[in-house]
Amino acid sequence: MSNERGKELVMGSTSAPLSRYESQKRRDWNTFGQYLKNQRPPVQLSQCSYNHVLEFLRYLDQFGKTKVHVQGCVFFGQPEPPAPCTCPLRQAWGSLDALIGRLRAAYEENGGSQETNPFGSGAIRVYLREVKECQAKARGIPYKKKKKRRNTIKMDEEIKATMQSSQSRVLENQW
Ligand SMILES: [Zn+2]
Repeated sequence: MSNERGKELVMGSTSAPLSRYESQKRRDWNTFGQYLKNQRPPVQLSQCSYNHVLEFLRYLDQFGKTKVHVQGCVFFGQPEPPAPCTCPLRQAWGSLDALIGRLRAAYEENGGSQETNPFGSGAIRVYLREVKECQAKARGIPYKKKKKRRNTIKMDEEIKATMQSSQSRVLENQW
């Protein structure tokens, strides 16, 4: 990863150090660009639609760390299950929501127009709302304002770790 970081510093256009948000945004943007390139056939940014974005979000689930119980699991709806289960790990809704916000901004900063911004599509909003409702039910955790600050930091860390591991594992098989 130190390699990646060095590259960013060289490529940075300003002498001021990037804020946490800015450097995360840049990393996310690079990861998304890499994802499009790895499609067969590769997808040009100008051809990128909200469908590619939805596929990207589903692809990221394999790197998730948030246990989301399936309907049949005995722990469905329990915030703190007393034992492990085999339900899949997913990206937390808050991580995806923050990611989309950063990519939406990056798209326009990189020359995309607001009208064609796939990250601003209504389909993405609908998808995120569904993920949110589904995870709230499955995990028994309503997304309310209390503890927001702590959760935000935690989710931020999660997506950061995700982006780092997805960059290095982009070519590996899914498991
Ligand atoms: Zn479960």
